Amino acid sequence: MDSFYDAVIIGGAFSGASAALLLKRRRPSSRILIIEKVAEFDRKVGESTTEVSSCFLTKVLGISTWLGHHQLAKQGLRMWFARTPAEEFPDCVEMGARYNSRLSGFQVDRATLDEHILALAVEAGCELWRPAKITALELGGVGRNVLTVQHADERRAVRAQWVIDASGRAAVVARKLDLLQPMTELPTNALWARFTGVRDWDGHALRAKFPGWANAATTSRSWATNHLMGLGWWTWIIPLKGGDYSIGLVYDTRLFTPPAGATIGERLCAHFQNHPVGRELLADARPVAGDQRAFSALPYVSDRVMGDGWALAGDAAGFLDPLYSPGLDFCAFTAHGAQSMIARALDGEDISACVEKYNARFTFCYRAWFDAIYRDKYFYMGDAELMAAAFLLDIALYHLGPVRQVYSDPATQFDFFPFDGRPGRVVAAFMAFYNRRLAALARRKIAARIYGTRNAHWRLLVGGFLPGGTSGKLLLRGLVRWAIAEWRNLFLPWATVPQAAPLDISVRPA
Ligand SMILES: Cc1cc2nc3c(=O)[nH]c(=O)nc-3n(C[C@H](O)[C@H](O)[C@H](O)COP(=O)(O)OP(=O)(O)OC[C@H]3O[C@@H](n4cnc5c(N)ncnc54)[C@H](O)[C@@H]3O)c2cc1C
Repeated sequence: MDSFYDAVIIGGAFSGASAALLLKRRRPSSRILIIEKVAEFDRKVGESTTEVSSCFLTKVLGISTWLGHHQLAKQGLRMWFARTPAEEFPDCVEMGARYNSRLSGFQVDRATLDEHILALAVEAGCELWRPAKITALELGGVGRNVLTVQHADERRAVRAQWVIDASGRAAVVARKLDLLQPMTELPTNALWARFTGVRDWDGHALRAKFPGWANAATTSRSWATNHLMGLGWWTWIIPLKGGDYSIGLVYDTRLFTPPAGATIGERLCAHFQNHPVGRELLADARPVAGDQRAFSALPYVSDRVMGDGWALAGDAAGFLDPLYSPGLDFCAFTAHGAQSMIARALDGEDISACVEKYNARFTFCYRAWFDAIYRDKYFYMGDAELMAAAFLLDIALYHLGPVRQVYSDPATQFDFFPFDGRPGRVVAAFMAFYNRRLAALARRKIAARIYGTRNAHWRLLVGGFLPGGTSGKLLLRGLVRWAIAEWRNLFLPWATVPQAAPLDISVRPA
């Protein structure tokens, strides 16, 4: 047995490095070992931050200045809709901010961000073994965990009070304990690649070609996370420092099959030909060779996220859906929560009762988050009228809830999950209700063959979401849009399409 550590962290990327850094800052005397499989990080998804994950980066980790120098400032999210692939480019419906964002947000190259956080953890005094692989793991309880690790040419065994699993989708601990559950209610897959040669959203060529379109938004569209939306799918276009773009497609397998192609890049190019905005922006774009990936069955969750001597953080605990970019929010809450509970235990507190509550709160948060935002969202995300209501309601409530929460006291508020507590439960129930209604309205529109027929000739450009009264007004606008959609629904012929797959795509407007 080589050594004894207070905490051993499996995985040194965003979640693992953040948990290690925060634990070390809180308990400088703790012995913390990070075990990272790869010698250096590669580009990966998780590039668009939100107001919550940016609060974590700037106010909790304290890396605003580094972000300003090394990453791009993000200007919110935008969505683009079309009635048919033949729609004129400037006629597409646009949703997003009219002005630059007032809260921090970043478009990050994850390779450099994760390296930076890991370097801070090492600088703070954490030990790092890299590249290193776990060859055996015995979870024997607090102080009795034993990990056998292949580090360079040596095989070493270490004992740990606590193990934090931050190994991402590898989910080493959840798989070992047989806790991992797929989320079959949300059958989504993703394809993505990095591209060069994407046209400049704000450049002279597009301004000259479409001056009215160019002048409609005061903010720079280039720095936003731009989404193209369709029935059963959405895509992201994210700019990266240096000029490349991260471009990907997420789709619900009940509703959509992406075009075939020899490579992922080719398949994405073919898909973007079917949307006027994609066709224009990617006309000269080329995928970067070797930087193309696909995941199937995106969502999954662990039944428990903490037990005797172990805790899960980030994707090792679960993943739901990347629409609205909440991945790093989830990593921030779980990494902060795990290290916080472990710090209390290392301080000598009996946390056994809190562990049970922590697991129950996590499970509730994950389920509530699914029902509130993602259940059957893919049915209505291609219809601009319905999605406009969701855009206003979802984002306003996000600002009035989690954004307000974490900014009120960043040092402590990341210990609380979204939808925690009684008010959270009420909001979760309300969100689940309108989400269910919007999905039902979408099915009725599909059956009546009017799905997406209002996807042209208007823009929803808002002044900006803030964690206060402004979002209250946008929430009211969302309610009005929802009410109008319900009203129009009353005049549709009485027919609906089945809840379950397969959906007959021929019901889409031609
Ligand atoms: C299609 C898609 C798009 C997304 N877009 C966004 C977005 O725009 N914004 C956002 O916030 N989130 C996004 N996400 C989510 C985001 O990518 C993840 O939530 C985030 O990367 C998880 O970080 P992590 O540190 O938990 O895990 P990872 O980043 O996966 O890191 C895990 C680390 O553990 C290491 N490891 C694995 N196994 C072992 C082992 N046995 N021993 C030692 N080390 C090990 C790996 O090498 C890796 O470094 C997206 C996800 C998907 C699927």
